[in-house]
Amino acid sequence: MALVVQKYGGTSVGSVERIQAVANRVRKTAQQGNNLVVVVSAMGKTTDTLVKLASEVSSNPCRREMDMLLSTGEQVTIALLSMALQELGQPAISLTGAQVGIVTEAEHSRARILQICTDRLERHLNQGEVVVVAGFQGVSSTEDLEITTLGRGGSDTSAVALAASLKADRCEIYTDVPGILTTDPRLVPSAQLMSEITADEMLELASLGAKVLHPRAVEIARNYGMPLIVLSSWSDRPGTKVVSRLPQPRSLQGMEIAKAVDGVEIDRDQAKIAMLHVPDSPGVAAKLFGEIANQNIDVDLIIQSIHEGNTNDISFTVVNQVLKQAEAVAEAIAPSLRTHPAASTEAEVMIDQEIAKVAISGAGMIGRPGIAAKMFKTLADAKINIQMISTSEVKVSCVVHESECDRALHILSQAFDVDLSSQKEITANRYQGEHPPVRGVALDTNQARIAIRQVPDVPGMAAQIFSLLAKKSISVDAIIQSQRCHIINNIPTRDIAFTVAQSDADLACEAITELNQKIGCGDVSGDKAIAKLSIVGAGMIGHPGVAAKFFAALAQAQINIQMITTSEIKISCVIDEADGVKGLNAVHGAFGLGGDEKVNIPA
Ligand code: ADP
Ligand code: ASP
Ligand code: MG
Repeated sequence: MALVVQKYGGTSVGSVERIQAVANRVRKTAQQGNNLVVVVSAMGKTTDTLVKLASEVSSNPCRREMDMLLSTGEQVTIALLSMALQELGQPAISLTGAQVGIVTEAEHSRARILQICTDRLERHLNQGEVVVVAGFQGVSSTEDLEITTLGRGGSDTSAVALAASLKADRCEIYTDVPGILTTDPRLVPSAQLMSEITADEMLELASLGAKVLHPRAVEIARNYGMPLIVLSSWSDRPGTKVVSRLPQPRSLQGMEIAKAVDGVEIDRDQAKIAMLHVPDSPGVAAKLFGEIANQNIDVDLIIQSIHEGNTNDISFTVVNQVLKQAEAVAEAIAPSLRTHPAASTEAEVMIDQEIAKVAISGAGMIGRPGIAAKMFKTLADAKINIQMISTSEVKVSCVVHESECDRALHILSQAFDVDLSSQKEITANRYQGEHPPVRGVALDTNQARIAIRQVPDVPGMAAQIFSLLAKKSISVDAIIQSQRCHIINNIPTRDIAFTVAQSDADLACEAITELNQKIGCGDVSGDKAIAKLSIVGAGMIGHPGVAAKFFAALAQAQINIQMITTSEIKISCVIDEADGVKGLNAVHGAFGLGGDEKVNIPA
């Protein structure tokens, strides 16, 4: 007999007929001899309707009352599904998050789960009842027992957290598409179903805009090794498996707030090439990385900072052995990279061999803004200057001077409590086996870009900026420092840009403008009309040419790239919001991810 947790999303329970269909499916699974916990979302667009209702009463409703309001949506569904099951002769009971004992932090509207008390659940399961649980909600650990919610899309997280706490055999997420697809089928009709994906790839995709799974649900599945399957509630097709490698044992206490970092790594064998003053126009990155790929040179980090005037800087790292070759390519194409054919200034190539990369790895780095900030602060306290930053949901890497790298490794492993002797094997084996270079493509149009000009280039600046944002619970992605240096009042300065959720943009700008008075940077500006387009694939490691193909697809579609950031298994470009869907289709097609099978999406 297996213990299965099933979760049904809003569309899957959007009407009486749908609730009855779900009841039939649940009943069938129970009759096959399984114990079942069923997590449900609010019916259809109920949560959106409640949000709109609140906005009609208040322009800035307090988060506690929002939780009180939004948690009612799921409560309707649990009662109706439980009734429908009883009607079929299936013993069932509905329970709210508080009744189940889903204990969370007291952070309204984005609470993290601390633990789940499973006694009551187990009692009902032992009595042969199906337990129907309200997703997305919990109860605070404080004396007042406040109702909390986990953030939009959070029912996925409720389900996986319940599965992990109950040590269930598997967690099935039923939704309105046949599983995880190569991209959003609503934007790209040729998107195809994948049979499996690694948890790290799915973490990246989910945090880069693929809303089919809540990133925190994937994080829990990865950390506890919970088998997770995404499938359609309309069909019997097998869906997509999210596979996790064997987890290190970890406690169920402090489930979502315990240790996020499980590895610290260094890579001394790195050299940096920076191309300054390249034209800010479509096709430049494609040309540069196309030539590099032609030479079969594997590029690691790629960073393109925000433009200054009509030019950009692009920097990238390669292993030392191919530095000369990569430099020759860059030098050879520099004369052709002018802002105008008649312009006298051509791109300038700089190299630096004395660099090293230090990285922390784990899950949920972007979702927990304090983690990157702690890394920057730890390096700053040790007076180590950060030359380049690359952030992703599974890794934050910093390029530092080579002579500082051992010290960086030591202090970071101490700060994040990582046992260096035990983690070597884990990092070496992370992406074993065959993986496609690009598994999926995601578009996030809900992002804004913040730029801070002329930040003094001294240790501690990134730490101050990102600690402040972390304190305000603002998650940051795509952090980029320009390579170009301006001397202001005898102090070298660089520009720093990063992306945040649009809803956090004003708050982030305000906070930094305030900080600015203390640290003395230049202008702070925000731009909401941007989109982040990303490709993800564990097979892109050691596979030259992936970046070049991505940039070429955008160039062919006449799309200008505003920023580039990469991490081990993803490449992201910031582009104009208006180009988002066009770019997504171009890139999806360029990697041959499309197919003929049309995905059925229920109306
Ligand atoms: P639910 O209500 O079941 O939780 P969601 O709307 O949250 O469903 O997530 C399912 C939707 O996610 C799909 O209808 C699809 O439009 C969107 N989506 C975005 N990216 C992907 C992807 N890579 N694979 C599948 N669906 C995706
Ligand atoms: N009902 C909530 C939402 O719409 C939670 C969920 O469906 O996952 O965000
Ligand atoms: Mg969802």
